[in-house]
Amino acid sequence: MPFWKKAMLVLLGTAAVFIWSVALEGQRDGLLKVYFLDVGQGDAIFIETPSGNQMLIDGGPTDMILSRLGDVMPYYDTSIDIVALTHPQDDHLTGLIPVLKKYDVEMFIHPGAVGTSASYRELERVMGGLDMKNVEAAAGMRIHLDDEVYMDIYAPYEKGRESDNLNEIMLIGKLHFRDASLILTGDAEKIDEINLASSNADLESDVLKVSHHGSKNSSTALFLERVSPQLAIISSGVNRYGHPHADAIERLRAAGAEVRRTDQEGTITLVSDGNAFLVVRQ
Ligand SMILES: [Zn+2]
Repeated sequence: MPFWKKAMLVLLGTAAVFIWSVALEGQRDGLLKVYFLDVGQGDAIFIETPSGNQMLIDGGPTDMILSRLGDVMPYYDTSIDIVALTHPQDDHLTGLIPVLKKYDVEMFIHPGAVGTSASYRELERVMGGLDMKNVEAAAGMRIHLDDEVYMDIYAPYEKGRESDNLNEIMLIGKLHFRDASLILTGDAEKIDEINLASSNADLESDVLKVSHHGSKNSSTALFLERVSPQLAIISSGVNRYGHPHADAIERLRAAGAEVRRTDQEGTITLVSDGNAFLVVRQ
């Protein structure tokens, strides 16, 4: 939100992160907006709540994120309330470096995994000079974004953090706005999906942010059965990994989901009135 609207009270507890904003103006449409930004091969998802609170999940692989944010944020808006990193790999984290340099960020949420790339070290260096809350996410945490908008964190689990595979220490969460829901899986692999599907987490969601750019082995049938999405969004671009894979798309369609892809459409914009999500043309 713009700096001049900023009047925030942040309470941080062991099991929940509350973020509450006093909206000083009345011209709001009451809608939740979720933008799957076209950042090429990577993820970057920007959320704006009905009161104007903002969250960015991942930043994509380059500084293209800055122009994409410029498409969806007013030029005078110099802050983002929460920035989250699903896992420390370059196609998710590199774009967060220019974001943290340009915008005032209140809180940074991450899965507690340590990256190995040069970009990760640069991100750490930039973060070291910033005054923002640093929150290690864990299953069971709830992040309040607005009066009626919150995200429940389903992963990572505490014991999972020792894995050498960064895709197994994944920030996975489900966004709720009244009766509408969207599950965000980052680069979850088959094992992450199976773990979730065999837990008693409430996975059923209107919209699925498809795991790992639509990779061949993710989007397992069991997981899709539990999520039962009407809409599946794949964030991908030109890549050498074969993302998204035809088998994954087939499984998504077999599960009853309409599949939409940023590599074909560019940025995909969803709005919700609290009952359902709709794809809108920008
Ligand atoms: Zn990725």
